[in-house]
Amino acid sequence: MDVVLVDFRGKKKRIVNNVLKIPISRNLPPDKIFWVHNKNDYYSVKSGYYQACKIINRNSASSSSSSPDNGLWSRIWRISVQPKVRHFLWRVLHESLPCNVKLSQRLPAFSKLCPRCGCDDETQLHALKGCEIVRGLWLTSPLNLRVDKIECNNVGEWLSQMFTILKEADLKTCIFFEWEPPGPRDVKLNTDVAISIAGQFSVAGAVCRVADGSVIRWGVKRLEGITDVEQTEAQAVLFGLQVAVDIPRRLICEADSATVISRLQDPSKAIDPTQLIIDDCLDAVRDRDATFRHVRRQCNHVAHTLAKWGIFIGKDCIANRNIPFPVNKLINILV
Ligand SMILES: [Zn+2]
Repeated sequence: MDVVLVDFRGKKKRIVNNVLKIPISRNLPPDKIFWVHNKNDYYSVKSGYYQACKIINRNSASSSSSSPDNGLWSRIWRISVQPKVRHFLWRVLHESLPCNVKLSQRLPAFSKLCPRCGCDDETQLHALKGCEIVRGLWLTSPLNLRVDKIECNNVGEWLSQMFTILKEADLKTCIFFEWEPPGPRDVKLNTDVAISIAGQFSVAGAVCRVADGSVIRWGVKRLEGITDVEQTEAQAVLFGLQVAVDIPRRLICEADSATVISRLQDPSKAIDPTQLIIDDCLDAVRDRDATFRHVRRQCNHVAHTLAKWGIFIGKDCIANRNIPFPVNKLINILV
């Protein structure tokens, strides 16, 4: 009997206990199969049906603990997003996304590992929240979200908390990226600014992209001592125009500062320090076909993330293509 205990420790304990309950006959008869769910140890359809119902109820009870409550479903159905986004959320909550763990259940030779970090199995929760690379994306997104601070055991709990923490506008931001590509003969310049945590300096980010969404040039520049919001935004536009100076295409310049763009669209002669930068911007595009457009923050997301990246890198640079990580991940998502 000791041998049985050694072999069936741990999760098989229930089986061991059931084995131990079997009385040992002194006559040592041959082994027989008993149906333990009936008093006379013989199978009956009634007792089989009863056991089947018990198993079904147990499974639905355990799955309901990971499924969202009705409040979450109603919020998902109410939020004004494209049907495909709602369908995606429905699939997330039913754990039916084809992540590697799921695929490997059908294809045993398939690796369960996450293709991004290569450190953990790619469950749905890992792919959407747990993976360190995905955590970086959430942090650099317009939501600035530390998803590692959200404790949960499954995607249902996680989504539930996301819907509690975020406002509807935030939720739309997190699932809508509205950057629009330029025409086939154009280049679109997006510029933005990030201010250092201590507020001592700012960094301008500029990204030039073409019709297929790919980046053809980008740059970051530290703006020492300048933290006035309007001035930094105007400086970012000026820097962006320098980055895009010799790209032989019609230029569409986008920024999310409404005041700076309106001053560029409708030049006046205001007497303030920003006007000096505005004049320099207009001078930079004097001989080329260029337009200025105001966009919402989420459409300017890549330029903002690049500027945030520039804060950590701490040096100025302008380069063709190959925009650095994690900004490159946003390009893949957007296009
Ligand atoms: Zn990963």
